[in-house]
Amino acid sequence: MMMRKAAKCSVGFLWSPLLETFDFGKKHPIRVGRFKMIHDFVEEQGFLDLPSVRVITPEPLSEELLRVIHAEGYIASVQRISESGVGEIDIDTPGFKGIYTNARIVSGASVTGVKAVLSGEIDHFVSPTGGFHHAMYEHGGGFCIFNDVAACVYELKQRGVERVLIADFDVHHGNGTQEYFYDDPGVMQISFHEDPEWMYPHDGFIEDIGAGAGQGFNINMPFPMDSGDEVYRYAFDRLVPKLIHYYRPQFILFIPGFDAHYLDRLAHLKLTTDMTRYITSGIHRAAHDYCNGKMGAMTGGGYHPDSLLWGIGTVISELSGAPYDPPPQKAPFKDNKETWDEVKANVARLEELVFPILGI
Ligand SMILES: [Zn+2]
Ligand SMILES: [Zn+2]
Repeated sequence: MMMRKAAKCSVGFLWSPLLETFDFGKKHPIRVGRFKMIHDFVEEQGFLDLPSVRVITPEPLSEELLRVIHAEGYIASVQRISESGVGEIDIDTPGFKGIYTNARIVSGASVTGVKAVLSGEIDHFVSPTGGFHHAMYEHGGGFCIFNDVAACVYELKQRGVERVLIADFDVHHGNGTQEYFYDDPGVMQISFHEDPEWMYPHDGFIEDIGAGAGQGFNINMPFPMDSGDEVYRYAFDRLVPKLIHYYRPQFILFIPGFDAHYLDRLAHLKLTTDMTRYITSGIHRAAHDYCNGKMGAMTGGGYHPDSLLWGIGTVISELSGAPYDPPPQKAPFKDNKETWDEVKANVARLEELVFPILGI
């Protein structure tokens, strides 16, 4: 198999001060100032001075694409909340004045990245607000208003891309995105997440492997509480390379999932940024092996400022080839026998359910 050395890739960083126009309130995990903090960090680290990294201005999600991914009634309700500033998208997703415009720009950023990759302007994009994987056709939720992952898939489909891989390592299951493409073999979704038995959004069980022609193309790998780097790497190595090799995607949408970090308080996995490096490197290599490097990272999740920035730095470093090292980290636990037993059983169950269908 051809392996291109990935040190000289060009990366588009989607940025505009308009990304910062959201306002979920001061006590919300996505606080005002979050994306400016990310931008300033990326700038301070010198990434924006690299010849291989360029800033790309996001375009708002087109109304046409918005109407493909969301129901008229839902769009109208977001517009109403946006005009009055009254009401909420969901219990954990407050409304605010201007939310419609904000949601179109933060989701449009990822689609802008897709277009820039397809046009050959850049090899990879990084969309710092992207990855709204909980939004569904008829409603939002889980901090997500418009599903940019689905929007990217439809944009890719319209441009003739037939096989899209969604590699979603956010600690929460990508339930919205799963629902859009559950019976569609044109999309393979691999989601690694904390056990939905207790974790939001309480969806993403191993048995949910897709339906109809899409059977076998939806892969849910749940992890028990306190899972660390070792069990996570085991599951990744056992599942991901084989699935990607089978699928031979033409474009990869990658959600690195900084909220699986041990510092993150919204969930209970115990990964370090070493795992972000490992996953990003594996997915990046796969993008060059199978799809001429065509991939984008949506890095919107992550709720502890330190692990969030370490993650962003690591992803941009890996994709651009520029050096960056987060501080050394030590997870609070080592994987114990119970964790190992459960992860091994989950991997074995997935192999048993999915691999025969795909002929792996
Ligand atoms: Zn590359
Ligand atoms: Zn999450």
